[in-house]
Amino acid sequence: KKRVYLFGDKKADGNSTMKNLLGGKGANLAEMSAIGIPVPPGFTITTEVCTEYNALGKDSVINALKEDVQAAIESLEQTMGTKFGDAENPLLISVRSGARVSMPGMMDTVLNLGLNDKAVLGLVKRTKNERFAWDSYRRFIQMYGGVVLGMKPKTKQDIDPFEEIMEHLKDKRNIELDTEFTVQDLRDLVYDFKDAVKKQTGHDFPTDPWDQLWGAVMAVFNSWNGDRAVYYRNMHGYPADWGTAVNVQAMVFGNMGTNSGTGVCFTRDAGTGENVFNGEYLIDAQGEDVVAGVRTPQQITKLGSKRWAELAKVEEADRAENYPSLEELMPKIYKELNGYQEKLEKHYRDMQDMEFTIQDGKLWILQTRNGKRTGAAMVKIAVDLLKEGLINEKEAILRIEPNKLDELLHPVFDPKALKSAHVIAQGLPASPGAATGKIVFFADEASKFMHSILVRIETSPEDLEGMNIAKGILTARGGMTSHAAVVARGMGKCCVSGAGALKIDYKSRTLKVDGQVYHEGDWISLNGSTGNIIEGKVATIEPELSGEFAEIMKLSDKFRTMEVRTNADSPKDAKVARSFGAQGIGLTRTEHMFFEVDRIKAMREMILADTVNGRKRALKHLLPMQREDFEGIFEAMQGLPVTVRLLDPPLHEFVPHQLSLQKELAEEMHISVDAVKSKVAELAEFNPMLGHRGCRLGNTYPEITEMQARAIIEAALNLKAKGIEAKPEIMVPLIGTMDEFIMQENIIRETANKVFKEKNDTIHYLVGTMIEIPRAALTADKIAQHAEFFSFGTNDLTQMAFGYSRDDAGKFLPIYIEKGILKVDPFEVLDQEGVGQLVEMATERGRNVKPDLKVGICGEHGGEPSSVEFCYRTGMNYVSCSPYRVPIARLAAAQAAI
Ligand code: ADP
Ligand code: MG
Ligand code: MG
Repeated sequence: KKRVYLFGDKKADGNSTMKNLLGGKGANLAEMSAIGIPVPPGFTITTEVCTEYNALGKDSVINALKEDVQAAIESLEQTMGTKFGDAENPLLISVRSGARVSMPGMMDTVLNLGLNDKAVLGLVKRTKNERFAWDSYRRFIQMYGGVVLGMKPKTKQDIDPFEEIMEHLKDKRNIELDTEFTVQDLRDLVYDFKDAVKKQTGHDFPTDPWDQLWGAVMAVFNSWNGDRAVYYRNMHGYPADWGTAVNVQAMVFGNMGTNSGTGVCFTRDAGTGENVFNGEYLIDAQGEDVVAGVRTPQQITKLGSKRWAELAKVEEADRAENYPSLEELMPKIYKELNGYQEKLEKHYRDMQDMEFTIQDGKLWILQTRNGKRTGAAMVKIAVDLLKEGLINEKEAILRIEPNKLDELLHPVFDPKALKSAHVIAQGLPASPGAATGKIVFFADEASKFMHSILVRIETSPEDLEGMNIAKGILTARGGMTSHAAVVARGMGKCCVSGAGALKIDYKSRTLKVDGQVYHEGDWISLNGSTGNIIEGKVATIEPELSGEFAEIMKLSDKFRTMEVRTNADSPKDAKVARSFGAQGIGLTRTEHMFFEVDRIKAMREMILADTVNGRKRALKHLLPMQREDFEGIFEAMQGLPVTVRLLDPPLHEFVPHQLSLQKELAEEMHISVDAVKSKVAELAEFNPMLGHRGCRLGNTYPEITEMQARAIIEAALNLKAKGIEAKPEIMVPLIGTMDEFIMQENIIRETANKVFKEKNDTIHYLVGTMIEIPRAALTADKIAQHAEFFSFGTNDLTQMAFGYSRDDAGKFLPIYIEKGILKVDPFEVLDQEGVGQLVEMATERGRNVKPDLKVGICGEHGGEPSSVEFCYRTGMNYVSCSPYRVPIARLAAAQAAI
């Protein structure tokens, strides 16, 4: 078995397709070498060896590797004209980790390996640069000590043991910067560092380069199972058996004086996507000095330098003299670098993020990879690459990460302002966006301030109006599918939910966190994309729905076969969704219409009525209001199908629970407070989610279904009279048995026929059902004999399949995810393994009976990319999601079809 792959000198054993075996870094180093980019020679130990190491241990792996690695080092020696461990002319190497995907923070790189007390003198002789040699040695002990020998701060409060020694010396010498150390200082540091290692680890710092090398290689392997790596792997669902590769590479030095330097660069702007080469560099520096911010880095291009100077308010003369771009300072090197960046981007057909080092006037490339980028840059780069002919249409679509489109749809904080923001706590990023406002604790007080943030322990349907008015919503309880989160996403409103650290006291109208108290009227800001809660105001900027975004959407529609609808409860939402490309409404929740001030009265009157006639009287008041709502929505959708769900929530959600409000209600209704109280008590349920709700309401109080059916059909006919087509699809919620459906269907059809007769006109409409109770999924063949469509209500279906109460899951789900019992929140990402079986089974059984049965999904999952892909595979006709996720679903559906 081949365990070691060489690269360098325009040759390579591997190539960029071998990421699984060589890791991303190793595969790209090989590829670069083969296409003639100057990379320092080196070799890659494969990820398979990491797996061997985990199974068999250190000794057996060293045995298996020894000959190959010795041969590889010899080949490096030949290319470089140096010798590993030589006192006269030592070969120095870097040892770098590299998994198949880049895993930030998994392991730090060790540079300058191969130095010891003798070799450092050889380095001095060879380079005639004492300062450089001792600085390299000092860095080596520091890095090796930290990474391989575990010389880390003992507690969180301690500082790094090496930093401590350096600080000490700086104090003694009364200097501030590393660059101010004398050669003697650096020499002293080396010995102090080694003493510290001996003291803390009980062993001498290894002087034999081979010991150093094996130690570093094993440290890289060990890092694969380190806490940070395991956490990161679990978060992304990467399997433990991937392993990491180890890259061993000849050192090139950017710290050899003013003719040397190091930098990072991007072939395009990672923030905006603009096609401009950009990056930063430092003269006389090594490794990560640029990123670490030891000194202010300079810009690579003259254009970039001028832009930077403008922002930093640096005068042109000052800039040209003290912060020249690489383009100005080393025009020849710049030209060469520019040639490589063009070549690499063409070669990889994507924006590249590169590392380079200049050693004494010679340029070396140390790394290239597809660069990380913002949502805006992602879209622009994909469209630009398509136009430039580097990628085709399908590739352009696959380059888009659906969830990242979110960034383009909501207003965002000014990144500059965020830098200085004071984060007081963090919750779940429930609904993206940026919100700034004054704290209010009660929904009905949301309009107290021009800009308010509604802060609640949790929200309820009663809070809807206030949520709509508030700029953002913050809750202490509840997860990603809590009421607050679902509603906020639907509204496209920023929401941070489940921020457990918040102590909210409604009585004193205060919010306590970490001993700090915030009062009603205090300014706070929410970052719905990160879950950060920030003290005070943070400036925002409007998102730009750039032309490229529209182009990508158009392209998606070309490949997409599944429809995308929206969940919308108002004409306003419907219009927003249509502007985002929704092809219909997959879910209109009728109960949301009942929460407005005058409607809730009629609703409560209906609930409080003890007789059928009393209820019918109250429903008569509701009928015209409901009809008007439907007219508005049908009109907004202009002939596109609209699925209307009949009343779903338990009635107790509509009655007041506070005594003062109960008194008010009693007065209004001219009944006793006791009567109100006893009705409220009567409606209370042990488990309302499994209680008297859904079609159980319509079957026990048929007059409710009758009113709603009438409102829908009359609205459609009224529009028809105005020349506007309406396509209602009436949806019965929470069916568990066929007879439940039949009873509802009968009421709907009888009512419709009555209305047709009255108006002497007809329209086409459908009657279908939600599949959200496991029993309905199991008996889908029976239900499909009657229902004209299925819509999977995957929120309830998940709740009931798992037996997790949606509103209580916040207590254990985060812990389950942390412990790895669940990989993801099943209310966010559809559980294909379990819940998915119910969906597939029901679809198949339904279509066995009715081959052209229309099937869709209207749960929160309808806008989640991996779930959309599942829906496509299941053969659904459409997915439906909140308006602001429509573009995401369109893209995900296109990707699924490609
Ligand atoms: P990371 O994956 O964290 O970026 P790298 O392995 O890329 O770690 O290395 C960290 C830093 O050290 C980078 O700036 C890189 O360019 C530099 N570096 C790595 N190997 C060498 C080398 N052989 N010569 C000079 N610099 C190197
Ligand atoms: Mg790197
Ligand atoms: Mg439901």
